[in-house]
Amino acid sequence: MNNRNNFKEILVSESEIDARLEELSKEIYEVYKNDEDDLVVVGILRGAVIFMAELILRLDLDLHTDYMAVSSYGSSSVSSGVVRILKDLEEDIKGKNILIVEDIIDTGLTLKYLTKNLKERGAKSVRIATLLDKPERRKEDVNVDFIGFEIPDEFVVGYGLDYDQKYRNLPFVASLKEEVYS
Ligand code: 5GP
Repeated sequence: MNNRNNFKEILVSESEIDARLEELSKEIYEVYKNDEDDLVVVGILRGAVIFMAELILRLDLDLHTDYMAVSSYGSSSVSSGVVRILKDLEEDIKGKNILIVEDIIDTGLTLKYLTKNLKERGAKSVRIATLLDKPERRKEDVNVDFIGFEIPDEFVVGYGLDYDQKYRNLPFVASLKEEVYS
């Protein structure tokens, strides 16, 4: 069982996420409804899987899905500053509208790199949807089109996000007590 004594605070509840998903999917629908044939939703493994699944279930658009995996924190909670593609797209995205779906934007390094990389492959447009945003930590200026929730500078888990591969299956977002990850 996930050890609930390790949580400091529940920052975003299950019902808040559900309500925001309804709003976000409407915003996204409005943007793509006239250009839906070329839409590829790209989930960033593994953290974005739950958010992406719940989002596309609410999007009545003729979309494709694809996934990328990039190197991130590993089992430490400090960014290495290095972005490496561990798994690449399977679709050719030339001329396509790309919606990157990410779990959280922190320094912005990952999304800055990914946006540039996908544009260089000839994507028609590249937009970003993220469940969580930690604006205080931003180092790279990234234009994020759809944001679920802004959260304070805390290390969080749940709703796809892990610590040491655990807690991804929590239906809410919680901050971890510092002694758990430091
Ligand atoms: P960035 O490149 O924006 O610094 O970091 C993005 C990645 O860092 C996210 O996709 C996620 O893997 C990881 N990350 C950043 N903050 C957190 C956090 O609070 N909790 C967890 N579990 N991962 C985080």
